[in-house]
Order: sequence, then C-alpha cells, then structure tokens
Amino acid sequence: MIIILKPAASESEIAMLRGELAGRGLAVQEIQGESTFMLGLAGDTSMLSEDSFMRHEFVERVMKVSEPYKLAGRRFHPQDSVYDVAGRRIGGGAFCVMAGPCSVETEEQVLSIARDVKNSGADFLRGGAFKPRSSPYSFQGLGLDGLELLKIAREKTGLPIVTEIMSQEHADVFRAEVDIIQVGARNMQNFPLLKDVGRLGRPVLLKRGLSSTIDEMLMAADYILTSGSSPVILCERGIRTFETATRNTLDLSAIPVIKKKSHLPVIVDPSHGTGYWDLVFPMSLAAVAAGADGLMIEVHNQPANALCDGQQSITPFLFDRLMRKIERLHDAMADN
Ligand code: PEP
Ligand code: MN
Repeated sequence: MIIILKPAASESEIAMLRGELAGRGLAVQEIQGESTFMLGLAGDTSMLSEDSFMRHEFVERVMKVSEPYKLAGRRFHPQDSVYDVAGRRIGGGAFCVMAGPCSVETEEQVLSIARDVKNSGADFLRGGAFKPRSSPYSFQGLGLDGLELLKIAREKTGLPIVTEIMSQEHADVFRAEVDIIQVGARNMQNFPLLKDVGRLGRPVLLKRGLSSTIDEMLMAADYILTSGSSPVILCERGIRTFETATRNTLDLSAIPVIKKKSHLPVIVDPSHGTGYWDLVFPMSLAAVAAGADGLMIEVHNQPANALCDGQQSITPFLFDRLMRKIERLHDAMADN
C-alpha cells in the first residue's frame, strides 16, 4: 500500500502517521516523487482499509500495491538504486565485474588469479570458501580457512571480496570480513538465512534460484530488505529448463524485465548460466548489451585441475581479452 500525502502535510502530521503505521507493525519507506511525497508500507496490509487513512485531512490518496514484493519494486523506489561498495560503484550506469575461482583452493592459486583479474580491471574478487555442492562427496570448500585466504588476497591486491554464506552460524564473521555477501541459488528461498543476512547491514548478492521466477527472486529480496538496511544486488545465473545442451538456460530477458519491475542493480553470471567456458565470452557480451549492471565470472589459472567448475572457468588470458571487449561494448552503448 502507498499513501500519497498532500503537499501541505506538515512534519508533525507525517510523524503522527508514521507512528500509527509503526504501531501496526508495518515498515515504512519514504518515497519522494517529482511533486509528491509518499509513504510506502511493507508488511501485512491485507487488513488495512484505504478509508482509515483517507480520514486524515493531509492524505491525498491511497493505492493498493498488487505486486507480491514491495521494497524491491519500482513503485516504492522509482529511481535506480546505486551503491558504493568499498569505493566501487554498482548500478546507475557503472559496470562492475566480479571475477575469480569457483572455489578457493590454495594461497598461491587465489593470489595468482586475484592479481591477474585485478590487472585486467576486475572490481571484485569472487571465490567460494563454503561451497554448496550437489554431491556430498565433492570438494566442499575450505570453509573459514578459505575466507582467510580471500582476506590475504584482498590485502595483497586491494580487491574487495565476494563470497557465499551458507549458514547463519557464520553471520558475524561474514559481517566483519566480507565486502559482498553472496546468497547462492540454492539458498534463494532459505527465508531464515535471508532475514539474518538482511540484519547484517552489508551488501548482499542474491542469486536467482535454480527454478525460481523473477517475482520469487524479488520476494526473496524483500525478505532481506525488510529485515534491515542491507543493499541488495540481484544476479541472473540461469534456470533449469528442458534444454540439456547447457548446464542452465541463461535468462537474459530477466535483465530488462527486472529493470522494469525493480530498482535493484542486476548482474549476470554466464559461468553457471551456461556451464561451458567457451560460452562465457559471447554470453557476457550479450549481458552487457541487454543492460546488465555487471558480471560475475569464474576465472581459473589451471581450469583442467580446478577442484570445482573447471569446465566453465575461463583462463586469465581469455578474461583479459573479454574485459577489453566489454569496455568497448559498454562505452559504445553509453554513447546512445
Ligand atoms: C557460485 O557462485 O559459486 C555458485 C555456487 O553459484 P550458484 O549459487 O548460482 O549455483
Ligand atoms: Mn562455481
């Protein structure tokens, strides 16, 4: 529900209304339009009648929001969200690239890849310490030791780090140590985890669930946004379809669809989205052309020996070529 106030509404009237709404357990977001001031209500508004608010003389109009998500939606926040994370701009026409190995394996491995992707112009180092593997017999990641190696790589290269959280028990460590906390596809609807991560006040990269609709992803974003002040970045990483030629079907139409529905930045992961290293290059360019705010790319210095996802990892050499191409494409698009 959105309450549109008359231009003459005073500070004290607005404060009184905010108090009334808070008393009903609703989260309130202020929306400053070009000529109007509105309050967006998130929470259970099903029992509220428009009439009860229209009784206030300073209320102009009340609108029910039909979308199942609110804070992630454009109605609540018409302008694009733009974040500054460790000095890197995300959204608002900037293009950010997160690159690195699927899993952190050794200090030499992560440092070598971090240096290479930094030299090629990556903005963030990605690397899994806690790995959500489909098989319990596969390499599960180095856990907290892996996080220590990411911290060393950050210190040596200056690249901020993005890594996946899998359990609430690590919330405090992630809040203290991680620049962008990734919630993986398998946890997109782990609602207790989303709420806990939302309370950390740190940027969150929310990946689309394996078989989730765009609306479900935006509702998952609302779980994070209603729990605190964590900025949310969305990530399209492919979905399950009947097609087996690729690991997932990378849904690039999700980018303009999300941009219509939501103000949150959207990045694309062509590595998990396709499952094959030779598809990463063309699909990265396609993501730029479709209006993505950035990319997450798996890069490995020895893909054939990678402990996880080597078949979809590109080499630092190819990553460098890709970065040059992305820069040119992004610039060409900005000219229009
Ligand atoms: C990852 O980015 O390492 C990962 C496991 O991705 P997803 O959750 O999209 O499968
Ligand atoms: Mn991976």
